[in-house]
Amino acid sequence: MSAIARVLINLKLDRAFDYAIPNHLIGKVNIGSQVEVPFNKGVLAGYVVAMPSHSKFPKLREILDVKSKQPLLSDALLKLGDWMADYYCCAREKALESLLPGVIRSERVKAKQQLMIELVEDLNMDELLPKYESGRSKIQAQILRRLHLLGAQSRKELTQLSGGASSAITALRKKGLIHVREQAVNRNPFLASKVLPDSPKSLTEEQQKALDAICSNLVSDLKKPILLHGVTGSGKTEVYLQAMADCLEQGKNAIMLVPEISLTPQTTDRFRARFGDSVSVLHSHLSDGERFDEWHRINKGEVNIVVGARSALFAPFKNLGLIIVDEAHENSYKQSEISPRYHASDVAVMRGKFEDATVILGTATPSLEAYRNAIEDRYEYIEMTKRVDHAQLPHIELVDMVTEKDKIGQAQIISKTLEEEIRHALNQGDQIILFLNRRGYATQLQCLSCGYVAECEQCSVKYTYHRENEMLICHTCGDVHKAPRACPSCKDEQIRFSGLGTQKIESIIHGIFPEARVLRMDSDTMTTKDSYSKTLSEFKSNGADILIGTQMIAKGLDFPSVTLVGVIFADLSLHIPDFRAAEKTFQLLVQVAGRAGRGELPGKVLVQTYTPYNPALQAVKAMDLKGFYKEELDMRQAANFPPFRRSIAIRCSGEVESEVAKQLQILTDLLLRDFSHAGDIIGPLPSGLLKRRNRFYYHSLIFTDKTLLFSRALKHYLKQIKLPKQYYFEVDVDPIYLT
Ligand code: ADP
Ligand code: ZN
Repeated sequence: MSAIARVLINLKLDRAFDYAIPNHLIGKVNIGSQVEVPFNKGVLAGYVVAMPSHSKFPKLREILDVKSKQPLLSDALLKLGDWMADYYCCAREKALESLLPGVIRSERVKAKQQLMIELVEDLNMDELLPKYESGRSKIQAQILRRLHLLGAQSRKELTQLSGGASSAITALRKKGLIHVREQAVNRNPFLASKVLPDSPKSLTEEQQKALDAICSNLVSDLKKPILLHGVTGSGKTEVYLQAMADCLEQGKNAIMLVPEISLTPQTTDRFRARFGDSVSVLHSHLSDGERFDEWHRINKGEVNIVVGARSALFAPFKNLGLIIVDEAHENSYKQSEISPRYHASDVAVMRGKFEDATVILGTATPSLEAYRNAIEDRYEYIEMTKRVDHAQLPHIELVDMVTEKDKIGQAQIISKTLEEEIRHALNQGDQIILFLNRRGYATQLQCLSCGYVAECEQCSVKYTYHRENEMLICHTCGDVHKAPRACPSCKDEQIRFSGLGTQKIESIIHGIFPEARVLRMDSDTMTTKDSYSKTLSEFKSNGADILIGTQMIAKGLDFPSVTLVGVIFADLSLHIPDFRAAEKTFQLLVQVAGRAGRGELPGKVLVQTYTPYNPALQAVKAMDLKGFYKEELDMRQAANFPPFRRSIAIRCSGEVESEVAKQLQILTDLLLRDFSHAGDIIGPLPSGLLKRRNRFYYHSLIFTDKTLLFSRALKHYLKQIKLPKQYYFEVDVDPIYLT
């Protein structure tokens, strides 16, 4: 009988230590248990990650205590954590941290207990009740009747009945008729709000085909991840709901990931309406207590379905059958802020593999990575091409801003063409969305007058514009130039344009249409915890005519009376200095276009651009997704960019620029010395936003098909390099943005 536990201690050592399990803890310590162990002269908490039969160390210290009655981590989740630590280049204990919510790891939050009162067993109530009801204590009789008819009641409920309830309870207890026990109370506020139940809809032919394919995947021994490629409004959610029902019927559990912004009551109610209280909704606004309770409800098996944002992927189900990643192309699935910098779609695929669960990546605009996996048969590909309500896909027009400028002699932000369409829609009483993609604005050099964008001739990637020193830098090959004073193409000096934001658009719109009711939605206005859902429901209930917003309105939201969508400046995201610029712009515009004409009314989309002949924009116009993907894949292949190889970004930050560059150079040189045969290693380069909060950022890039090799090597080197205080390295495997 083995009495050894291998314990991962929270020390950033990336190492597990062997301990002996003392006799009184045998049976209580399991894989996944949280334990307390002696370490040096102190006591530390850790997790049991293995129970080996022998240890190579002869004398082991003993585990002191077990913190959790039930193991907190299943074998499968521990394995997933190991994979994440390895692939995403982070310490194992860091990876475990992302598997367990903070409230579960720390001991601050406890289950909320309440006292429950119930009748002792085997009482003859037919005799007892009449005796008490004719007796003197009316309140004792009332309590007995209640417990008899309704079962266990909380002490709180009973004492609210009347004045003497408290002493009546004591009396009944003394007589041995009732007993008191503790029970955990659930703090999820959702459980209190009721939704009307609904039943499965009868499916369209396309939906039925998709569901059939998913159901056979659910029972197959050789599962491939599924790419469910369905246009907006094709009824993917209904397919998910019915696939979940099938999964539950087989006695298994399901996880559904949605972007945080979709966790509005409108969306989550669709799941609760179908599955009631067996659904747990995890969103970022839960209090610690609520999160604690939901996690334990899932861990104890009281819940069958979890709907939530990125981290819901780690819901502690033991018998997982299905993972759905809705809007799988969404950037918010990538943890970019802290290590491990994982992508939830990729980790979902791995969890599915470890637990033999079906994985569905659902989207109207797959990433090129997912699409290529489908083409090459690593993913099963299911397509849904029609909208459920037979609504037409919206009509998309490109507005050439150079021609528009010539019409009135000066550059403008709302073109005459867009202005006329807005006026028309307002007159019809329809709603309008104006969309500005703000990302990229700070990092490129573009002429507002003619549309010229500075671009590296060797790489055909846009230059990153560094305002601090007026430099243009190519982040793919490292080429550096002085930024021009005037536009090289039209000689206009407006080239260093400034200040195009949603606020500015709001004031322009207000100037043209003073009577229109306008709402604005961007990271500046969305500051409180429910400002998203408030603004969205205000707009949806016709509380405004025009909604102006950034990326955050491009997501799976449903606005039936929007007939016009205007994209203010499509070029903004097209010229991000990144090889994914075209792909991201295409996806964004298709998603934005999906907001128009979802109801009875046909929709129109106007895309303002200085480069109407750009292939990505032409493809959006023609809604030619496959043509665009094919061309884009050919280009990526020619340049050997992802998805044909993978990328790793290594960032270094600190207070003194030259020191940051120097430290990153040391690391990059090590890589170049040992691994230049295994990939292209570029850098160090100043990052797109060189200086943030008084810290300088530099990065190096690796393009390789041997990610694991580099991750492991980096882990090794990072332990060797001693950085000055307050200097940090970050490793980002498969980064979304290179700079
Ligand atoms: P998607 O997730 O693909 O964008 P949804 O699942 O939101 O699409 O479906 C769009 C609309 O069509 C929703 O209002 C939904 O209730 C409705 N719908 C979906 N499937 C059906 C069906 N089989 N019959 C009737 N209405 C449906
Ligand atoms: Zn270049």
